[in-house]
Amino acid sequence: MVALVIRCPQCPGLDQGTSVPRERLKEMLATGEDITVIGSKCGHTWPLSEQEKGSIHKALATGTL
Ligand SMILES: [Zn+2]
Repeated sequence: MVALVIRCPQCPGLDQGTSVPRERLKEMLATGEDITVIGSKCGHTWPLSEQEKGSIHKALATGTL
């Protein structure tokens, strides 16, 4: 599992965590499909932005995730 720090668009200022299976995350990045996450604190669900997906992709590629 990859642990991500995420910020809900409806709850600005609240840093939360979620975890996604690494292989599933890579697959979603490769196909460009929406990555929907669930806030650990607020319970909202939302898709990650293109910018967030880009930084996750880069972190996976460089081994920092
Ligand atoms: Zn929220």
